[in-house]
Amino acid sequence: MKISKHRVAVLAYTLTGDDGQIIDESHDGSFGYLHGAGNIVPGLEKALDGRRPGEALRVVVEAADAYGERDLARIQRVPRDRFPPDAELQVGMRFQARSQDGHAHAVTLAGIEGTDVIVDANHPLAGQRLHFAVTILSVRSAKKEEITHRHVHGPDGHHH
Ligand code: ZN
Repeated sequence: MKISKHRVAVLAYTLTGDDGQIIDESHDGSFGYLHGAGNIVPGLEKALDGRRPGEALRVVVEAADAYGERDLARIQRVPRDRFPPDAELQVGMRFQARSQDGHAHAVTLAGIEGTDVIVDANHPLAGQRLHFAVTILSVRSAKKEEITHRHVHGPDGHHH
């Protein structure tokens, strides 16, 4: 059975950056996802379409087809006194910030300049070209409930 919309593919993968450093890899040897639901980066999803179990491929995905380009408008300068006084602020730390529309976003503390804190709301992998080495382990039809929820259930995926 080949990979197509509303099928579940189980992969083993390694993700590296341009520098060859490993960014992420499938844990416990495999990773299941629902194809065609935007659960993985668009460039990789496109490359996997029509592939079959046993196939192994290397896919280079440009930033625009991965986590997008870095958007300078998403980098903001925030006064230090907007953080709790006892908060230990360190460059590189990730935390949740609430934007004006009330949604919580994961942001990165990108720098501290004088009394200002530089906060970056870009995805940590924004602006990066990604290199995937993928082996397709299995493909099955998705269950109705998985299609409704837009994610995989069971041992390889999401648990409720
Ligand atoms: Zn679910």
